[in-house]
Amino acid sequence: MGATTFPRVGGHPAFDLVDTVHWRLDDARAIDTLPDVEAVLEWCAEIDLVDSDALRALASAARETAAPEHTAILALREAVYEAVFEDSPDAVALIAREHIDALSRSRLHRDGDRWHWHPPADRTGPRAAIALLAHDLLTSDLRAARQCGDDACGWVYLDTSPRRNRIWCTAAGCGNRNRVKRHHARTRA
Ligand SMILES: [Zn+2]
Repeated sequence: MGATTFPRVGGHPAFDLVDTVHWRLDDARAIDTLPDVEAVLEWCAEIDLVDSDALRALASAARETAAPEHTAILALREAVYEAVFEDSPDAVALIAREHIDALSRSRLHRDGDRWHWHPPADRTGPRAAIALLAHDLLTSDLRAARQCGDDACGWVYLDTSPRRNRIWCTAAGCGNRNRVKRHHARTRA
């Protein structure tokens, strides 16, 4: 562990979270890079999601209290995907519940000229922070929400390109691979 770098192509941290599943659209190849609490902690640390107190609290939590947090975080991740790309009412309801629950445990804290919700500094902090992110994404302008054009990749992102014509998660990854594939298909034909 520690060598993982999580993809940051989503344009919003809630989409970066969705993208922790690789090859989402191919059941045979799908890889979940957040298989346990430790991986979730690494992801949170990498994007600087919560105070280190919350990370330490979850890291040192007993298995039986940490495991439900892991399960709930993955459920939130899948709910973000299903709410945005499948219009799932159940997914939206889950995010709403988690968001209300997160707010009830968070406090408003002043950073300079703005007030921000600070998730609790206990083991539930990461889940609360993710619920806040999910709500933030869902209540933003989702016209730019896209899924990579690859058949299997499944990574999602906000297309902020000037002409709103980004079709690949990354030009070097899926873009290049699909260009090569099309080229081979053409030369075979
Ligand atoms: Zn892709």
